[in-house]
Amino acid sequence: TQWVYRFGGGVSDGGKGDKNLLGGKGANLDGMASIGLPVPPGFTISTAMCTHYYEAGESFPDSLREQVANGLAHIEGITGKRFGDSADPLLVSVRSGARVSMPGMMDTVLNLGLNDATVEGLAASSGDARFAWDSYRRFIQMYSDVVLGIDHYIFEDVLEIAKEDKGVNLDTELSAEDWQRLVATYKTKVEEALGRPFPQDPMDQLWGAISAVFGSWQSERAKVYRRLNDIPADWGTAVNVQAMVFGNMGDTSATGVAFTRDPAIGTRAYYGEYLINAQGEDVVAGIRTPQYLTKAAREAAGATAASMEEAMPETYQELARVFDLLETHYRDMQDIEFTVERGKLWMLQTRSGKRTAKAALKIAVDMAEEGLITQEEAILRVEPGALDQLLHPTLDPAAARDVVTTGLPASPGAASGIIAFDADEAERLAALGEDVILVRVETSPEDIHGMHAARGILTARGGMTSHAAVVARGMGRPCVSGAGALSIDMEARVMRIGARSFNEGDTLTIDGGTGEVMAGKVATIQPQLAGDFGTLMVWADKGRRMKVRTNAETPADCAVAREFGAEGIGLCRTEHMFFDPARITAVRQMILSENEKGRRAALERLLPEQRSDFVEIFRIMSGLPVTIRLLDPPLHEFLPHREEDYQEVAQASGVSIDVLKRRVGELHEFNPMLGHRGCRLGITYPEIYEMQARAIIEAALAVADETGEAVVPEIMIPLVMTTREFELMKAVVDKAAEAVFAASGKRLDYLVGTMIELPRAALMAGEIAEQAEFFSFGTNDLTQTTLGISRDDAGKFLSAYVDKGVLPKDPFVSIDVDGVGQLVSLAAERGRAARSGLKLGICGEHGGDPASIAFCEKTGLDYVSCSPYRVPIARLAAAQAAL
Ligand code: ADP
Ligand code: MG
Ligand code: MG
Repeated sequence: TQWVYRFGGGVSDGGKGDKNLLGGKGANLDGMASIGLPVPPGFTISTAMCTHYYEAGESFPDSLREQVANGLAHIEGITGKRFGDSADPLLVSVRSGARVSMPGMMDTVLNLGLNDATVEGLAASSGDARFAWDSYRRFIQMYSDVVLGIDHYIFEDVLEIAKEDKGVNLDTELSAEDWQRLVATYKTKVEEALGRPFPQDPMDQLWGAISAVFGSWQSERAKVYRRLNDIPADWGTAVNVQAMVFGNMGDTSATGVAFTRDPAIGTRAYYGEYLINAQGEDVVAGIRTPQYLTKAAREAAGATAASMEEAMPETYQELARVFDLLETHYRDMQDIEFTVERGKLWMLQTRSGKRTAKAALKIAVDMAEEGLITQEEAILRVEPGALDQLLHPTLDPAAARDVVTTGLPASPGAASGIIAFDADEAERLAALGEDVILVRVETSPEDIHGMHAARGILTARGGMTSHAAVVARGMGRPCVSGAGALSIDMEARVMRIGARSFNEGDTLTIDGGTGEVMAGKVATIQPQLAGDFGTLMVWADKGRRMKVRTNAETPADCAVAREFGAEGIGLCRTEHMFFDPARITAVRQMILSENEKGRRAALERLLPEQRSDFVEIFRIMSGLPVTIRLLDPPLHEFLPHREEDYQEVAQASGVSIDVLKRRVGELHEFNPMLGHRGCRLGITYPEIYEMQARAIIEAALAVADETGEAVVPEIMIPLVMTTREFELMKAVVDKAAEAVFAASGKRLDYLVGTMIELPRAALMAGEIAEQAEFFSFGTNDLTQTTLGISRDDAGKFLSAYVDKGVLPKDPFVSIDVDGVGQLVSLAAERGRAARSGLKLGICGEHGGDPASIAFCEKTGLDYVSCSPYRVPIARLAAAQAAL
């Protein structure tokens, strides 16, 4: 088996750059080398090796040793240096790289191959002893931390002391001798911690690092990240071994990270940071403040330290050319890592850059307009779920703000919440339903669960490309990073900004678009839906087949949904209208009456109210279909609780409180969700559905008169399990409608259909469809009744089910395609066979979930219906599913 794939120096074993095999980093290193960019030569050990490694009880096959030796020979051939050579040693980096970039994986080890002998060789060959010893101490520190599991604080403390002793602040002020002494101390520390000396044999070092990369695939951090991002455990990671180039060789050397476009707002401007005389992750580690890449960015920020454009104009120009080349080659915004060694530019990584929803949208639209990608590709570039970020309110510019400090605008959006100082606390508070702002000095991969749980993230240190910034942008969390005025006392759990202090639990607002940090909660306003958003939506609408409707029953929700592009209502839940304080007494009176006469009296009072609800909704939705579900919930949901409630009902109905209480007792159910609800109410009390049907038809006629544009009411019978139930209920509705037509002398089209939310209904769909004019899949209940899992009780065990792989996802969030999906397909098929043109839709929560929407497209449903704020998400997801 081929495990090792070489790249660089005109060799490209990876060929077409298979990310699944080479990992993202490996595939793109090979890709960059292949198009002639300066990439240090190296080789990639494939992800297949990772899988093999675990299958073989964490061991390597002999064939790998041979192939790694070949890979090293390849690097040696191109660089003219030899690994372990004490005169002029080859040094390598060992880098992890899964298919998708994955924080939580092993950190990179740089300068591998250094030992007490080769460090002297490096000093001699480079003519720079300081550089050689700096590299060696970095190597010991990284290797010990990453491979040997020794806490890096040990080394940092020693370094701090050395700097203090010398009276200097910066690492760069330490001399060759200082570093040499530190190396000796570091080695002693390692031996103390490990009980054996730091490994001197470069080959041992290399295999140690390779094993550590594969080992990190099963680390807790990596597992958490995979779970949060739905990454399968069997993907594995690749390992990249690559010749070192050095950004720490003095003032003509540097290292940096860059984006080809602005990852926060998407504008077409190079964006990045660099550091002179530095190596590897110095830029993102927040040890020194990085400098801007471009002059424009430096000026905009009012910074004085020279930008790369100014300090290294020629290398900068070359870098800019590379940016353009990479964008054209990969046809996407790139996130790039580079190093300059004595004036020469080297490319160390490129990948599609993480971006905010806002930037994703702008970049997709811009690139399509630039002709770099097609409109279809633009549609596919924006993750529907990410639009959520744009559809939610932002800070009201007119609202008063108590700005306490300003940091970097690292990830846009506004968030208010209570302060939590560590990830566990953030997670705990969020689980209690609190909005949380996670406040940290800086974040690391250990904080990911807390960042996920938080509404927003605030850090004291770190730049625009710091861990906090990158991860927050990826997760769509607002983030302000590098708020330098902020100090956190973890002992006292208090945060200080100047004279002000904030305790854990105090409320804070951050604006990730401006970097402002404010005390208290700040008012917000609705988002703008024009511009790039509008453009992409127009493209998406051209591309989709399914209609998108909304689940709404209040005029406010209907208006929002229509503005968001809803093409009708897929589910109007009439019971929500019954909870209005002005009506609840009449509702209770109806429920608690012992006979039809009493019920009719109460319904008589509800009729005009219900009719005016529909008039308002039909006005807003005029010209569009509106599906109205007749009363569905178990009656007990409406029952009186407090003594006053009883008094009011008693007064309204003239029945004594004692009688009412007895009646409530009679209505008690052990399992209300499977009890007297849905059309079972209509079967026992047809007058309820009769009143509702009448209100609907009367309202539709009134609005048709008024606007000249009629809605088409689609009257929906819930929880049907037999054809006979449907027949009986349809007769009630038709009779009520005919009565209205007769009385008014006008007619209007309407449909009567059913929800399919019980397995039996799905199975009997053929027979039911002979009577029903449409089906709407109520997948919330259908999931509940098919899996036999109560939605309201699932929280206690569902996460364990997902963790243990019993269920791939929460089936109430994303449809269970194998089971529930099978019932949906079967019902759709049988229904359509019985009645061609049977209208099919979905109205469960799943109607707004992109994966479920893809399923609906495949099944050939006519529409999906979701909550108002998810309408644009569904429009985009429906287009993606259709493309
Ligand atoms: P991550 O996946 O965390 O970004 P990388 O493998 O990209 O880790 O390594 C981090 C940094 O280490 C790179 O951005 C680069 O600055 C530095 N680095 C990695 N390999 C080399 C190398 N061969 N020469 C010089 N620097 C390197
Ligand atoms: Mg890293
Ligand atoms: Mg990297």
